[in-house]
Amino acid sequence: MKRFDEILHNGYSQSFDITRIIFHEKTEHQELVIFETPTFGRVMALDNIVQVTTRDEHVYHEMLTHVPLLAKGNVKDVLIIGGGDGGILRETLRHASVQHATLVELDRAVVDLSLEHFPDISNGAFSDPRTDLIITDGVKFVAETDKRFDVVIVDSTDPVGPGEVLFTESFYADCHRCLKEGGVLVTQNGVPFFQGDEVTNTYQRMAKSFADNSFYTAVVPTYIGGFMTLGWASDDAGLRHVDVETLRARFAAAQIKCRYYTPDLHKAAFALPQFILDLMRK
Ligand code: SAM
Repeated sequence: MKRFDEILHNGYSQSFDITRIIFHEKTEHQELVIFETPTFGRVMALDNIVQVTTRDEHVYHEMLTHVPLLAKGNVKDVLIIGGGDGGILRETLRHASVQHATLVELDRAVVDLSLEHFPDISNGAFSDPRTDLIITDGVKFVAETDKRFDVVIVDSTDPVGPGEVLFTESFYADCHRCLKEGGVLVTQNGVPFFQGDEVTNTYQRMAKSFADNSFYTAVVPTYIGGFMTLGWASDDAGLRHVDVETLRARFAAAQIKCRYYTPDLHKAAFALPQFILDLMRK
């Protein structure tokens, strides 16, 4: 049986049995492979790094979407940077309050191949009338747009290759510019046990533009190395501390059924282990 070895971390990797390779080509921007596995269903990797699997995608997509949208409440305009598989877009559109979801993806091939080979992940979200799909570099979009958003969600690859620009101080400053007053920025921020510098760098870079920034955590089995950090930034420090009764009420009113997210977990996710607190203050 063939295997896929992800070698994101020096000297430590995860390996998948492959039952079938569905697609493997270099797009205009990155190497894209899609394959079937007995354990994690269908998997997509970009430049050898696992992006999404049909077995555990809901964890990441629920936590990166419902935490900011329920903390903020009554969110109307959402900007998604990256996210070409459509998972964040799907979860965003489950909120009836959302009127516009703008998804800015660099690589058209990721969208097209996700629609073809992972239709359940986007689950029709790309054809929702509230969706505006823009194929361009996220850095360019946030620097130039005159639109304003309640929430910006950066569902990027890791800070290597095309995703690297989405971890810079100037990018976070432009995200701040695109947010309405009191809006929230959340980001994919790696696995701190192996990518501790991403915590240190993101914390320092976001703090240059936002009054309040920190992280929250989620456990995604195929983002190996323990839990992952999700970056959080807003000028409204209260949004990180919304009480669990309010979260429970908003979650119940939204009538969204999740497999990972709960209001109590939302609250607990912001309690960080000491090593992450130490990385933030390095
Ligand atoms: N959930 C995954 C993770 O946590 O690593 C990310 C999945 S999503 C497929 C990542 C997307 O970011 C890819 O489709 C990639 O093309 C896109 N991307 C990378 N750099 C980008 C950029 N500069 N602007 C817009 N999209 C970008």
